[in-house]
Amino acid sequence: MRLESTHAIVLRTREYGESDKIVTVLSRTAGKFSGIAKGAKRSQRRFPGTLEIFSHVLLDYRRRPHAELAFLDRAVLVHPWPRILSSLERFAAASHVVELADKLTAESEVGDDLYALVAATLARINEAEPGPATLRLFELAALTASGYRPELVACNGCRRPVADERGPVRLVPSLGGVLCPACRTREEGGVLLSPSALEGLALLQHAVGRAVAERRLCGGSAPLDPFVDESAAEGALGPRVGREVAAALDLLLTPHLRSRLRTLELLGPVLANGVNGREPE
Ligand SMILES: [Zn+2]
Repeated sequence: MRLESTHAIVLRTREYGESDKIVTVLSRTAGKFSGIAKGAKRSQRRFPGTLEIFSHVLLDYRRRPHAELAFLDRAVLVHPWPRILSSLERFAAASHVVELADKLTAESEVGDDLYALVAATLARINEAEPGPATLRLFELAALTASGYRPELVACNGCRRPVADERGPVRLVPSLGGVLCPACRTREEGGVLLSPSALEGLALLQHAVGRAVAERRLCGGSAPLDPFVDESAAEGALGPRVGREVAAALDLLLTPHLRSRLRTLELLGPVLANGVNGREPE
């Protein structure tokens, strides 16, 4: 087995036997995969406290083709995120980020957009307390990075732009987009979206689109960072609109998840009160 090396973010870990750990990572070059770190709990030389959730590491590993588990040789910390653990809000937000990334991907799915997005999002949460737009930008960018970009500009029925509609449009997850007031009467599923929520989503999508375009321009090695325009998006997400946009993204994400999100069950109240419900300053 050849020794390989990649940048990776630790999504989850579990103890295995007395001294080993099984670790699932989202890597830059090999997608999501799991590996066993023999003696992880003892070896300060090979794993100096680096195999913990959220760790951004340079990982040496070996892997047989089609084997379920890789062998992890060594993990060196690339970016410490000391402030992610400094508040419950930051911890809850970061937990939501890694769990969503985990549940949106299958093992060994290729493409490094999601990796680049998770790295930029953890850096953002480490930098400052998350605001009402932080996780919404991440969620919309995660959908886009995974190939599920929703269509929020044109009606899925008649293809006319929906931005100037005075009445609510209908967001239909199975269509991956919206229906204008004229077309929505024929469709039952989904939820009604107010003009302000649609506007908020459009602002988020603009920020995400810009981040994706910038990453393409840089040849793909740059982070996927939708937080440059965060303050503009935040201004459009007051408490009521923020809750509507959060529910809309939840609805868009659900069909693509491999299992239910547990972070939201445990830490949902922290996110709802401390992060998403906060008034923009
Ligand atoms: Zn229409």
